[in-house]
Amino acid sequence: MAEITEAEVVAQVLDWFHGAWDPSLSLLDWRERLVASGWAVPSWSSRWYGRDLPAWSVAVAHAAIREAGGVATPLGGGMGLAAPTMYDHASDEVKERFLRRTLTGELTWCQLFSEPVAGSDLAGLKTTAVRDGDDWVVNGQKVWNTSAHHADMGILVTRTDWDVPKHSGMTYFVIDMHQPAIEVRPIRQMNEHSSFNEVFLTDARVPDANRVGDVGAGWRVARGTLAHERSFSTQRSVFFHPDAAGRVIDEARAEAADYLETYKWYPQRMGRIDLAVERTRSDGRAGDPVVRDRLAGLLSFQRAAEWTSARAKAAQALGRPPGSEGSIGKLALSEIARGCNDLYSMTGGPQAMLVDGPDPLDAVVAEVLVSTPAQSIAGGTDEIQHNIIGERVLGLPKEPGNDADQPFRDVRTNLR
Ligand SMILES: Cc1cc2nc3c(=O)[nH]c(=O)nc-3n(C[C@H](O)[C@H](O)[C@H](O)COP(=O)(O)OP(=O)(O)OC[C@H]3O[C@@H](n4cnc5c(N)ncnc54)[C@H](O)[C@@H]3O)c2cc1C
Repeated sequence: MAEITEAEVVAQVLDWFHGAWDPSLSLLDWRERLVASGWAVPSWSSRWYGRDLPAWSVAVAHAAIREAGGVATPLGGGMGLAAPTMYDHASDEVKERFLRRTLTGELTWCQLFSEPVAGSDLAGLKTTAVRDGDDWVVNGQKVWNTSAHHADMGILVTRTDWDVPKHSGMTYFVIDMHQPAIEVRPIRQMNEHSSFNEVFLTDARVPDANRVGDVGAGWRVARGTLAHERSFSTQRSVFFHPDAAGRVIDEARAEAADYLETYKWYPQRMGRIDLAVERTRSDGRAGDPVVRDRLAGLLSFQRAAEWTSARAKAAQALGRPPGSEGSIGKLALSEIARGCNDLYSMTGGPQAMLVDGPDPLDAVVAEVLVSTPAQSIAGGTDEIQHNIIGERVLGLPKEPGNDADQPFRDVRTNLR
């Protein structure tokens, strides 16, 4: 059978959309229609809300729906991380119970992966789940969990066997966040925002029916989530057609605003290179040859990084496995964020730290200075990206380690 073309996908989705769109519906009722049509996730199988189309069809269909004045699936970790992980790895029962409500936005999600001593070394996690009848009882602490303070559900990786090597003793669950045994404590960041949390699980319960993948297969499932996370981090913008109106749109705008509140400092985290020329001028340093050299270098580097990112997106749209572009692109974003930080410090001097200076940009630049460190940590630190490039792309020897083969119980750590 001939491959479907982009134009054919657009024609088909618009044909459906014009018959189905009713802006007076509630957002939930509209999304129920969208999910039933298969256009919420057209790349998924028709058994699970899809249309068996290629991976690129999702972005094309959603863009066509929005251009036509409609709304597609919700933003957030539900669509970006939880739904694709469940689709790839969960039992039919988990899919039945959680997929549709995630696609409609009824359920919101957070990611309960990192722990105080298990971030880069995620496989060293110690939050433990012990089987108790039809349930598992979970004890431990997670940290840096974005949006956990308003999530309905969490994707959770736990240790279920301490007597096998670390990668083999983990199990993955989806857990109900609305239980007294889960305490979520917001973390106040140095940029004054509070988008992530500490999460304490003390005899929290999760039914075995909420397990994703086999007992002991949690590492494989978690790696699947992390692979989705790399492409998800670019999906934090939303647009509505300027003429879009009606109840669906109003509710979708409110939903997006609520979600994006958590991420409103993320542009500053990336350095705000869009302000670089203007800021250099307003700081009165545009004639300084050293500043000009730094600025030109930074802008050229950013342009090259955009092309790398475009290559990664093109490969992903064609359904090709992620290549080196992902890791290189992530490193480039850190480099740009640091470069902006240096530039603004250089042109503004100590004044760059003022949040209430005379220039309206002062507050933004001051926020850049205390937000950019997050760029080189979130989603895998720069050092870990270097390791990945060294080992998987350049074929260098693997980083030495002594904990991958022995039972996890015997692995020596600084916290037990
Ligand atoms: C904005 C933001 C949002 C986040 N959201 C979430 C979330 O929703 N859910 C979640 O579970 N987690 C989340 N995280 C946590 C994030 O995944 C971790 O911070 C990250 O994996 C690093 O782990 P760590 O902080 O424990 O640092 P560590 O792993 O302790 O690293 C400390 C330092 O040591 C270096 N290092 C560590 N190992 C090596 C090595 N093998 N070789 C060389 N250098 C090494 C690191 O590069 C770093 O500089 C978020 C983090 C940020 C900044």
